[in-house]
Amino acid sequence: MDEITLVTGANKGIGREIAAQLAALGHTVVIGARNAELGEKAAAELGTDSVVLDVTDPASAAAAADTVEARYGRLDVLVNNAGISRPPGTDLTHQNPSSADLATLRAIFETNFFGVVTVTNALLPLLRRSAAPRIVNVSSSVASLTRNADLAAQLPISAGYTPSKTALTSLTLQYARELRPDGILVNAVCPGYCATDLNDHAGFRTPAQGAAAAVRMATIPKDGPTGTFVDDEGPVPW
Ligand code: NDP
Repeated sequence: MDEITLVTGANKGIGREIAAQLAALGHTVVIGARNAELGEKAAAELGTDSVVLDVTDPASAAAAADTVEARYGRLDVLVNNAGISRPPGTDLTHQNPSSADLATLRAIFETNFFGVVTVTNALLPLLRRSAAPRIVNVSSSVASLTRNADLAAQLPISAGYTPSKTALTSLTLQYARELRPDGILVNAVCPGYCATDLNDHAGFRTPAQGAAAAVRMATIPKDGPTGTFVDDEGPVPW
């Protein structure tokens, strides 16, 4: 059966690659992009559909859900990929919590954590109409509390980004627990350190490599895992 898949923040970077790889597998992919033009451009290049979706805006999420419903009637896979490492227009510098700018922290959480709640809840009614609904949250192994100290020390990560992803991974577990009886599988993935705008292209993996874990969890069967946190090599420690 045709799979209807929405990927947030899919106009560039890892999200675009997730969209491309799922489209290549035969999914009907809808590229979520907060900038309509960029979303349409990516969709034209990949031969997919697109919808305007700013994950920080509940009205935008509701409108995107209405559009997906009008076009397809349901959603099979939601990939919550959109994320930021810093507010737009600011430099990527390491930020210690003791000197952190609260507005920056809030902006990061607004996208990486609250945005996922907003989009997921807007799309849940459509996911409930799927025969095999799946949600994939793109988290990060810097969010692993056990690996955090090592990784965060190596990378210029702000005091907001790492905790926002830890919260996202934890949120994934909460959704997985709540939605398990409804057959909705919810998993978190880490793409690895990929060269994208998010880190000024400092990553050593390609976005295509980074997309693989999300694609794998987006294509698990109905009796597949839920409440896991994985990367290419398997489970990531919480
Ligand atoms: P990019 O900066 O290349 O892409 C981020 C995408 O998210 C863009 O499409 C961007 O849109 C979109 N986005 C940001 N804010 C919003 C918003 N409010 N509403 C809708 N879309 C939004 O980053 P990556 O591809 O690297 O990041 C993708 C995901 O992977 C993120 O969640 C990131 O945290 C995660 N990740 C990345 C790693 C890496 O090494 N790159 C490592 C671990 C996790 P726009 O073009 O309009 O800004």
